[in-house]
Amino acid sequence: MIFIDYKGTYYEIIRKKAAIVTGGAQGMGEAHVRKLIEEGAKVVITDILVDKGEKLANELGDSAIFVKLDVTNADSWEEAIKQAESAFGPIDILVNNAGIDIMKPFVEFTAADLQKLLDVNLFGNFHGMQKILPSMKKAGGGSIVNISSLEGLRGTAGNSIYNASKFAATGLTKAVAQEYAEFNIRVNSVHPGAIQTPGVEADDIKDTVQNYIKNIPMKRMGKPEEVANLVVFLASDKSSYSTGSEFIVDGGIMAG
Ligand code: NAP
Repeated sequence: MIFIDYKGTYYEIIRKKAAIVTGGAQGMGEAHVRKLIEEGAKVVITDILVDKGEKLANELGDSAIFVKLDVTNADSWEEAIKQAESAFGPIDILVNNAGIDIMKPFVEFTAADLQKLLDVNLFGNFHGMQKILPSMKKAGGGSIVNISSLEGLRGTAGNSIYNASKFAATGLTKAVAQEYAEFNIRVNSVHPGAIQTPGVEADDIKDTVQNYIKNIPMKRMGKPEEVANLVVFLASDKSSYSTGSEFIVDGGIMAG
């Protein structure tokens, strides 16, 4: 987004800030990466998909680097932040986007399924925030955007453990927001509805996704860019008085 001020000067919404995006090689994460760069940020793309992440970083040139990061691993976070800071200096923005889903009837879930989802959807945010907050505090501020879901605001049949993981992450978002507000560090969550990404193309959830679309007031899935616009707003100083809040982008579902 380019703004023109009263003197006719062009400026972007985010300029010269450094960001880390997890799960940034594809899907919504890729859209967040592209939009942040469009708005003037330097971005560290992280993912477990190395080939895709490196290809994207190469395409984006000097504004991006790729660092392999498995969000479930605390040591992996330390190494990624070290590499990010040596490339772009103190990190101003963290977008905790990496997430996974498993859908089936509640009684068929195993404890291992639950652990797997918590490892990525909850511990990913936990490790990321724990590792980045000391440097954000030292740098005088920052913005953390945790990508949740509508499923972090309501329950859905077949999606119980995803619901549990995303609700838990919402609690973490709010508590950390309370704890760090006085340090000029804001933490918000974004709750997308059905968004067209590789994450919703898996065979086991195709029927669920089609049924989902019928109940969307706008009668279509969202585009990753439509979520990225909101992420950029929350990452930027334009949202300077918002913290600990839930931001919905869902084509009208939750209004019903
Ligand atoms: P996606 O297309 O599957 O992309 C997520 C990326 O994160 C993938 O590259 C994935 O790699 C990576 N990833 C998985 N586990 C990881 C780990 N342990 N460490 C680092 N990266 C990891 O997903 P998406 O649909 O864009 O979703 C992005 C976020 O939005 C997720 O948090 C999701 O829960 C949330 N969300 C999605 C929708 C939707 O409709 N798409 C709706 C609401 C919320 P692999 O492909 O190898 O797993």
